[in-house]
Amino acid sequence: MIEDLAWSALLLGAIAVLGLLLGGGARREDIRARRRWDQTFDYESRRLSRTDATGVLRCRSCGANGSERAGRCPSCGSVL
Ligand SMILES: [Zn+2]
Repeated sequence: MIEDLAWSALLLGAIAVLGLLLGGGARREDIRARRRWDQTFDYESRRLSRTDATGVLRCRSCGANGSERAGRCPSCGSVL
């Protein structure tokens, strides 16, 4: 009778440890996935803000907006 109880306790303990290990592993995976998503988001936002900051320049001669990649104003053709 006492042995049965001991075995039951041991079994419960084993199940608890197993559950803890599995739960911890899943949580670690979750954190890793979230961190990967954060990196992607960070990269996206940085890329977008960089495009916003340097993609369009205002012409100093006529005030029109031209893309930095073209390097020249679309209206008057002066160097941006
Ligand atoms: Zn211009």
